[in-house]
Amino acid sequence: MLCKVYFCGLIAGSIDLDHFLMAKSLKFKDAINLSSRPPFHNTTLMAMLAIFLISLTHLKGNELCEYIGWYILVATISHHLRDALRHGLWIWPWTTKVLHFISYLILSYLFPLAVGFMLRINKRIIFVKVKTFDVIQV
Ligand SMILES: [Zn+2]
Repeated sequence: MLCKVYFCGLIAGSIDLDHFLMAKSLKFKDAINLSSRPPFHNTTLMAMLAIFLISLTHLKGNELCEYIGWYILVATISHHLRDALRHGLWIWPWTTKVLHFISYLILSYLFPLAVGFMLRINKRIIFVKVKTFDVIQV
């Protein structure tokens, strides 16, 4: 369990690497003084990429990669919510207002719970499919 938390934290932290990529510099001063927001901070883009990965790996039956997609989604949204305290969410083509701290706390708490709930529902559907298939085979 702790390994999953660290993995999610690693993904969330690596999102800020786009500051350095966009600045084309390893200097912290250059990375934080960009004229526009770097691409990994586009919530629409990152959520679509994660959902595409989740969908593709789900259809292929690759459960490990599907879980990695869910981790990317949770880490990205958590990171973007934290950044939204200063800049708002970049939900392309729009940008929201700066997020209120209470809204940040509520959303940061509810989003991972919602994903966990969806994963439990997903497992039940798979379980029911397997059970139905077994019954049909017998
Ligand atoms: Zn950031």
